[in-house]
Amino acid sequence: MSNLADSSRPARPAIAWIGLGIMGSPMSENLLKAGYDVTGFTLERDKLDRLTAAGGTAASSIAEAVRDADVIITMVPASPQVEAVAYGPDGILDNARSGALLIDMSSITPQTSVDLAKAAAARGIRVLDAPVSGGEAGAVEAVLSIMVGGGKADFDAAKPVFEALGRTIVLCGPHGSGQTVKAANQLIVAVNIQACAEAVVFLEKSGVDLTAALDVLGGGLAGSTVLARKKDNFLSRDFKPGFRIDLHHKDMGIVTDAARNVGAALPVGAVVAQLVASLRAQGDGGLDHSALLRAVERLSGARV
Ligand code: NAD
Repeated sequence: MSNLADSSRPARPAIAWIGLGIMGSPMSENLLKAGYDVTGFTLERDKLDRLTAAGGTAASSIAEAVRDADVIITMVPASPQVEAVAYGPDGILDNARSGALLIDMSSITPQTSVDLAKAAAARGIRVLDAPVSGGEAGAVEAVLSIMVGGGKADFDAAKPVFEALGRTIVLCGPHGSGQTVKAANQLIVAVNIQACAEAVVFLEKSGVDLTAALDVLGGGLAGSTVLARKKDNFLSRDFKPGFRIDLHHKDMGIVTDAARNVGAALPVGAVVAQLVASLRAQGDGGLDHSALLRAVERLSGARV
């Protein structure tokens, strides 16, 4: 990380973490475990208390959190929140020091990432988009896939930080590329969950033992990380998030819009986007995305 920290600073860069939600809390804790100093800011008091209990420092504002940081990481819900924390009056661009590296790990539109990189460059702040896949469990276990957009030198400088958070870390191309790959990821995950949900309803209506069926399916070509990670949600109908339907609705909007812009047809993705939207409209937006099972059950006249 030599080009992130000058000689008067400690060898490990000082980290500011903005957004300590389902993902941000365990990810920031993994940086603390790896020996980084982390100063955090988020909207919920209890999440700030969790950070201090883990050995981090709670800031009272974004400005305070980022002022002395070498690396600033944002993990907030969507593009509007990234814009608010970056461009707001108390925000990152006005308060970070020149030369800092801003890594946005939220899942947002590729264009927002491109615009942010440009605006930050005018202040001497470098930017990477680095959305993740792997869910809450992947965040806790530090095994996330991290898809990065931006410059090679900044990617190389950030690599030790990424290695404390994830296992598969890939530079996908220039600014916005990480978000484009994440949009594809969300398409694959949603379609996969939908297929699993349809299989669950089909199996149950057929009177087959669901636990046995999902076990054997998991070992064959139908097996997937989605099936492995969501099997227990399906079996127990436990839809505590995890990854909220509200966020997947946002991501299906990103991927369908981005695909239309480049002339790519997503016929199955478009249908699944509608099913996610319908689930949300019925009040299930706060549930885990495995709750797509509830939509299939409603369509099939099964229990909900
Ligand atoms: P979350 O809602 O649990 O957490 C978001 C956090 O952002 C909250 O703690 C909130 O306080 C904070 N925040 C919002 N506005 C803020 C502001 N103005 N200033 C400071 N903090 C602010 O969301 P999450 O599930 O952790 O997801 C975060 C991002 O990661 C999203 O873009 C999501 O799509 C993506 N993601 C989530 C998962 C998952 O499984 N939950 C997996 C991969 C990617």
